[in-house]
Amino acid sequence: MTYDDDRPVESRHEIQHRYPADVRFCALCGGAMELRTVLPDRKRLKVCSRCGFIDFQSPKLVAGCLVIDAGRVLLLRRAIPPRLGYWTFPGGYVDLGEMPEAAALRETVEEVGMNVAVERLLGVYADPQNPAAAVVVYLARPGGESPGLSDEASEVRYFGPTEIPWEEIAFRTTDAALRDWIELVAAPPGG
Ligand SMILES: [Zn+2]
Repeated sequence: MTYDDDRPVESRHEIQHRYPADVRFCALCGGAMELRTVLPDRKRLKVCSRCGFIDFQSPKLVAGCLVIDAGRVLLLRRAIPPRLGYWTFPGGYVDLGEMPEAAALRETVEEVGMNVAVERLLGVYADPQNPAAAVVVYLARPGGESPGLSDEASEVRYFGPTEIPWEEIAFRTTDAALRDWIELVAAPPGG
């Protein structure tokens, strides 16, 4: 049976982070999950004892933009957990069926109200201490709009390479992407 409850729900990270350790029942049929060796990789994964559904565990994909204007990078101060009050770039989860670049552009509109243009891929970042996500980061240039605030951004501003608030950066992946950008600015490829 499926029903539709249209009351909105907050996403609670302390609950989401119980995945995958606390998975006990199959998402498809409700059968008990048990640890099995799965071919061809012989990984130990949770498999439904009733229907055979396998809980493949992998990082969720996040995509975001380093919006660069006149040699400075746009950062936002997070207005929501996790890392409330810390700085990062606009970005968020890639939806199933969505292209990563489209997700980065969509999140930039949602979080700072800017339609930007992607110039190139900067890199893909992951944090072994926080393995739930892998982050695809694009370099982008602003369009006509000035950066604005949103439910997810309590402050937005551009920072030059020497102005980055390193002690207040939200995630290790944010830190790594910013360091790659600074390296690129200092020594542009082919330049
Ligand atoms: Zn099942």
